[in-house]
Amino acid sequence: MPIYEFCCNECGLKFEQLRPMSRVDEDASCPRCNNGAKRIPSVFSAFSKSSGGESAPVGGGSGCATCSSSSCHSCH
Ligand SMILES: [Zn+2]
Repeated sequence: MPIYEFCCNECGLKFEQLRPMSRVDEDASCPRCNNGAKRIPSVFSAFSKSSGGESAPVGGGSGCATCSSSSCHSCH
């Protein structure tokens, strides 16, 4: 069950609550003042380590600084 963060509309208290996916859009009630609390969009899921999108060219061991090709028999 995922955990969600809520912020109380009334007293501003932030708290976390476990709840099933099917009830994710329901408001929670503040544990301090019992008023309605809105869900804060999850921060940690936005920052999950999925930054493997870029495919930087990897120097394959045989390249050199003066030529960009992987086999530099032309520049030596
Ligand atoms: Zn409250």
